[in-house]
Amino acid sequence: RKLGIALVGLGSYAKNQLAVALEKTDDCYLAGIVTGTPAKAAEWSRKYNIPQKNIYNYQNFDEIANNKEIDIVYVVLPNSMHHEYVLRAAKAGKHVMCEKPMSVSVKEAEEMVAACKKANVQLGIGYRLHFEPFNLEAKRIGQQKVFGDVRFLQTNFGFSIGDPTQWRLKHALAGGGPLMDVGIYCVQASRYVTGEEPLWVTAQFGPVTDKERFATVEESVSWQMQFPNNAMVNGFTSYKSNIEQLYVSASRGWLQLGPAYGYGPLKGRTQEGELNLPIVHHQTAMLNGICKEFTATGKFPAHINGEEGLKDMRILMAIYEAARSGKKVSLHA
Ligand code: NAD
Repeated sequence: RKLGIALVGLGSYAKNQLAVALEKTDDCYLAGIVTGTPAKAAEWSRKYNIPQKNIYNYQNFDEIANNKEIDIVYVVLPNSMHHEYVLRAAKAGKHVMCEKPMSVSVKEAEEMVAACKKANVQLGIGYRLHFEPFNLEAKRIGQQKVFGDVRFLQTNFGFSIGDPTQWRLKHALAGGGPLMDVGIYCVQASRYVTGEEPLWVTAQFGPVTDKERFATVEESVSWQMQFPNNAMVNGFTSYKSNIEQLYVSASRGWLQLGPAYGYGPLKGRTQEGELNLPIVHHQTAMLNGICKEFTATGKFPAHINGEEGLKDMRILMAIYEAARSGKKVSLHA
């Protein structure tokens, strides 16, 4: 049978991407929903044919433990709520997918990994680019040294943020600004292209040009990292600039993706010419990839598991520490 997924939080990502994907996936489907808004429950129930017994709110969510039709709980709430709902899902004995960034602190991420381990359930992070052909090609070229050793990587992702009242601009809910939201993709790319973990970071906050929006989170931040095989990385993220690029320079060639990280269509080239790769719906590719592997092995793919999310949280927090202190922050284990 197909795996039943319950989405927790029916905001724009759940509605416009994940629910759309779950209508196209081969091995999983939208079996349930968790929402605090009764009107949304009624609308989704009608649209996706979800029976009443598979609809929960934030109070009775824990009863999902008794629902055999739900295999995986997928947390799509504001960042600061991921920790609570992942812990509750694990306690209910459900496998959990959690949106990025995994949490708002390293401690929370560690607790999430530990809770899922203890409950013997899988934990995965919604890293859609791990299933996207252009990023997979960048990973292959980097890790397999197709153009030799990676020497330098430039990566940026930002967008111009709208509504000044949204949760993404509130530190208590978002845990930080563009670094938490989209800079995380740049950190991810530098890890999957090199196949290594950074040794240290330095970082600088950009100027605050909009005091209304950026009262509690950064407007932009740039960072530098060194990797063990000597690759250097320059990263930048912003809530003011529409940018998304990856440039990888290796000893015998280069690769460039742009747009690199958004929903696409993505584009890219190497010194050998244009990359001719399939354009996919990222969330469908991701859910197919995760559920196929889970069906075959009982595990989520290792490259998107909770430990990977935790590694990213350590790096994001080191970038903030470096930007605040002006010091080089070591990431040696
Ligand atoms: P959103 O604001 O559209 O939706 C958030 C949902 O949480 C809404 O249904 C809202 O009702 C609910 N909610 C519950 N308590 C809330 C509170 N106190 N404040 C605000 N909302 C509350 O946000 P989104 O864009 O859907 O993002 C949700 C999560 O998904 C975030 O962690 C985000 O980083 C992640 N996301 C991932 C991607 C991706 O490409 N992987 C893209 C977008 C969002």
